[in-house]
Amino acid sequence: MVDIQLLIGGEKRDAADGVRFERRNPLDGSVATRAPAATVGDAVAAVDAAARAFPAWAALGPGERRSLLLQAAQALEAKGAALVAAMAAETGASAIWAGFNVHLAAGMLQEAAALTTQISGEVIPSNVPGSLAMAVRQPAGVVLGIAPWNAPVILAVRAIATPLACGNTVVLKGSELCPATHGLIVEALQEAGLPAGVVNFVTNAPADAGAVVEAMVAHPALRRVSFTGSTRVGRIIAQTCAKYLKPAVLELGGKAPLVVLDDADIDAAVAAAAFGAFANSGQICMSTERIVVDNALADEFVARLAAKAQSLPLGDPRQGPVVLGSVVDMATVERANALIDDALAKGAKLVCGGKADSTLMPATLLDHVTRDMLIYREESFAPVKPIVRVKGVEEAIAVANDNEFGLSAAVFGRDIARAWQVAARIESGICHINGPTVHDEAQMPFGGVKNSGYGRFGGKAGIDAFTELRWITVQTSERHYPF
Ligand code: NAD
Repeated sequence: MVDIQLLIGGEKRDAADGVRFERRNPLDGSVATRAPAATVGDAVAAVDAAARAFPAWAALGPGERRSLLLQAAQALEAKGAALVAAMAAETGASAIWAGFNVHLAAGMLQEAAALTTQISGEVIPSNVPGSLAMAVRQPAGVVLGIAPWNAPVILAVRAIATPLACGNTVVLKGSELCPATHGLIVEALQEAGLPAGVVNFVTNAPADAGAVVEAMVAHPALRRVSFTGSTRVGRIIAQTCAKYLKPAVLELGGKAPLVVLDDADIDAAVAAAAFGAFANSGQICMSTERIVVDNALADEFVARLAAKAQSLPLGDPRQGPVVLGSVVDMATVERANALIDDALAKGAKLVCGGKADSTLMPATLLDHVTRDMLIYREESFAPVKPIVRVKGVEEAIAVANDNEFGLSAAVFGRDIARAWQVAARIESGICHINGPTVHDEAQMPFGGVKNSGYGRFGGKAGIDAFTELRWITVQTSERHYPF
């Protein structure tokens, strides 16, 4: 069991009223973590501390910020074993997934370090004689980062790395489901030598999330919100941000289609579908949530995918290497079981796996899924994935777009020009031709359309999101006025 604290203005402390909440291991119910249940006052104090640290951090040259972010990447990697253990204890994640989280998150800090010298502006021709007109990017102020539990290291680092590179100070609001995992990231940043108050950390009891978040969004020094999580909560965040006129980047749910056209390389499509559907037990925003396969090769594709899915090891990640660890809670199991019941009652065929009675859920595939079944449209966020059979390209595109979400997608086909045409017509922020739906790199513009949210993380798109673009002029000659 781990006891963690808040970090406010460089000081570790408990919640003002001393209240703590517990996170239990999803498999055996043992207490994994005890964390402070921050009060609204603590949350405001965290933004105050970030606001105090802002002027000096914003004024620091890019070289110094770069070097601190590179040290943070190393400090995070050095905590690899602790992060793997924390993720297994708090969320039941496999070591493969946790290790990938640490690796990619360290890469995100390195990429953020590289961005420090890429925050450029432009000189714009002015109609006023002698006016040198510039568009200049400046740090925005305090940024609130809110991250979920499912890819906890990647998403918490993503929420704050580019904002820090741009000269903002941050408050990270940890997930109630993995406070110690998120706390380790903050510890790494602190050990790297980031000045006190540049990164602050708040954890809250689940029931307090709304009040704690609203208090921070309302704070006058808070200028941006970086949110990754469900569409349900994303709507609440969007409404709160609208109330206080604070811009937000919202990275929300997904229901990624993987489209297998009639000329696809079946082995390549099977490998991508298995990886995309079952990595982290299907609990990734980019998870392959709909396998849309052309009738022409559906039988063969499904048989090979089922064989692959059945071969994936499942077990308690604390006891040895597995591909499928524990899902995050019994609510996930109940939701997935209900999706299976609904689909089977309406005529779907169970290809492999099936209902579970513990958080160890097997890789499960449902074939012949149709649009009247819940799993056709709802995010399962579990290792239970539907296969929809289609006839031809037009039906494949129609099915791919027949959904409220639009985050990631994939198209498999040997005729690349045709696959490109299909990709261009899929309504999603991200689409990979002959690659899996689960693919993330720090320098890429990452984000969704439709109910998957708005705004982009990654590379220069991240700079746009977390800086203020200002118009500044210098009058270099005498200015003429009409009166
Ligand atoms: P969640 O929305 O339940 O929680 C995310 C965060 O929101 C947590 O920190 C929580 O404390 C906070 N929150 C909860 N209620 C709140 C309220 N009323 N007001 C303010 N904040 C509140 O999401 P989750 O279950 O932790 O994560 C899973 C979801 O996240 C899935 O839908 C998944 O697709 C999505 N996700 C999206 C991306 C992406 O990049 N698009 C990445 C990973 C996960």
